[in-house]
Amino acid sequence: MLEPLEPLIRALARLPGIGRRTAERIALRLVRDRSRSLAHELRRALEELDDAIRLCRRCGAVTSAAEDPCRLCTDPHRESGVLCVVEDPADIEQVEKSGGFRGRYFALMGKLSPMRGESVVNPRFEELCRRVAEERIGEVVLALNTDMESDATAAYLRDRLAPAGARVTRIAVGLPAGSGIAYSDPVTLAAALQGRRPL
Ligand SMILES: [Zn+2]
Repeated sequence: MLEPLEPLIRALARLPGIGRRTAERIALRLVRDRSRSLAHELRRALEELDDAIRLCRRCGAVTSAAEDPCRLCTDPHRESGVLCVVEDPADIEQVEKSGGFRGRYFALMGKLSPMRGESVVNPRFEELCRRVAEERIGEVVLALNTDMESDATAAYLRDRLAPAGARVTRIAVGLPAGSGIAYSDPVTLAAALQGRRPL
């Protein structure tokens, strides 16, 4: 019965956090809307995505075609000597929202996979090394995730960036705000202990 909607359902189901069942519900919702106003709105937004939205050619943040490089890259009030390296453009938004960083950004668009070997090193890694050297970056802050691949990426970047003379730091992993020791998992607690600093 859903056969005619199959291409739409398949496309929706490829989006993060949306399984087959949710994709079906979204597709049915779009069909039920007789005026098709939601579908039109979606189509307009997708066309805009094609024409007017892109990833900043310097840092990788989401930006408009009219602002490339993006505002984060061109804002003269931001610190130029400090570069925050993240895995994904969405991470830039998160760090920005935290308000704890005032330097520039660089999204790796991926990470190193030790299982696949270093032959598949992301070309963005080379671009990062070039940028650190060219812009004489004094500190590279790695705001990476905490899984095995992110750890491997951090170690790799530390070694690669050392010759450029940049200090490479990594954000501390700690306890979530408002939570207690009793509720933390052992891995998080061990990382928090390792990242301790003087009061
Ligand atoms: Zn940018």
